Amino acid sequence: MDSSNETPLTISLVHQGALHDDLLAELLEQQGVPFKVVLKGDPVHQGPVALISKSTPEAYLRATQSCGGKKENVLIGEEIVDVETIRHMLGGLQDNKKDNFDLPVNEEGRKLVAAVGKRMSEVGVPLVLKSAWPGDAKACCVLTHDIDFMSFSPFHKVVLRGSDRLSGLARLLFNGAVRRTNYGWNIPETIELEKRYGFRSTFLFMNRYEARDDAYFERSLKLVKDGGSEIALHGSESSHKTVEAMDAEMEAFRERTGSYPRGLRHHILKFQAPETWVLESQFGLEYDATFGYNRFFGFRAGSCLPFHPFTATSRIPILELPTSFMDWTALHRGDDRSRFGEFLRVAKGRVEENHGALVVNFHNTYLNKETFPFVMEEYESLLGYVREKGYWVATAAECAAWWGRRGQEQIEPRMRDDGTILVSARDVSVRTFDAKDSSRLSYPMEAAASPGADSTV
Ligand SMILES: [Zn+2]
Repeated sequence: MDSSNETPLTISLVHQGALHDDLLAELLEQQGVPFKVVLKGDPVHQGPVALISKSTPEAYLRATQSCGGKKENVLIGEEIVDVETIRHMLGGLQDNKKDNFDLPVNEEGRKLVAAVGKRMSEVGVPLVLKSAWPGDAKACCVLTHDIDFMSFSPFHKVVLRGSDRLSGLARLLFNGAVRRTNYGWNIPETIELEKRYGFRSTFLFMNRYEARDDAYFERSLKLVKDGGSEIALHGSESSHKTVEAMDAEMEAFRERTGSYPRGLRHHILKFQAPETWVLESQFGLEYDATFGYNRFFGFRAGSCLPFHPFTATSRIPILELPTSFMDWTALHRGDDRSRFGEFLRVAKGRVEENHGALVVNFHNTYLNKETFPFVMEEYESLLGYVREKGYWVATAAECAAWWGRRGQEQIEPRMRDDGTILVSARDVSVRTFDAKDSSRLSYPMEAAASPGADSTV
């Protein structure tokens, strides 16, 4: 086909070698905006609009050259979004300890998309966006289980407090003490339950358990592997802060499980931002799922989309999968159990509004029908809910791998003179920012399903 009558729809991000440029790139990537980074000395990329983080004469000149010499098509990032807030949030510097479901990073990201979309529409071209998840799923759900213990006593105060009826409690205590029933393992039942819904999950194992639990550990590994779920690291000791401790954890993990983990969550959510991310990335880990609070719900970094964290000077090559709900947090609020799922519902709502990822952590110790019936009820109802709503349910490693591929994929949107929108999408689905442009899109799923093909969408 003759490409001379095709208008490219990929925008230019004119890079000035500053952190703010990388932060804008992160927002564009999160929001699925096709963009090309133009470094100093690069050949000019012609796009419908050019974005610069701040206006300097040099950047402004390069930006103008990148959008056909039209000054009005140069957008200045700092006039659209609060880049400092994003730096603060994605640098892990936010430390207000309270329930917080605000998503300033995602809100700023949407502002940026809106500004780009508006400008493009004013010059008569559509903005094509990558969908967040495979098959254009509305959201992603990552089911994770921190494995702190392989056995758990029904004498535990949380069980005692949570038990409804005295007779039920007596039975638990009898079974626990006399018949030595292990109410705390629950891994086979959890895998079975998830399988009934067609889901797999991520089990995060520590390197050390009590000696009596060795047999449980071996059986757990086999069950998780056989079921296709993921085995990841539940870091402990001081691997969140020293190279030596991390090295020891990684090697011990490989020895026990046969391979290095692709990601981890630290026990008790121990974390030093941003150093822990840097350390993890140095060991080749693809994702972290730690960054949150034990005692508070919500999105600590202000994003329900996966993100690359930042140091004061650069983007860290690791993805944070933001965990928004943990069973322990709800159990230790000590309020009445009817409120157990309340914060999970808030998280779901926020995630759906932003096409984000709902990363939940349910410990194996609490996934027991007899000791924690309300936790099980909530977990099962979550599985039913995400299936019914068409979430893309993935392991943590799958989610991180997807996010990386999506970011890398060049969909090269362009418009023909007759208004038809073309993309070269392989894995990702696409949509238009302005719904009225969608009539020029046809068969987006076919485009996503035919690898490498130049397709009319
Ligand atoms: Zn733990």
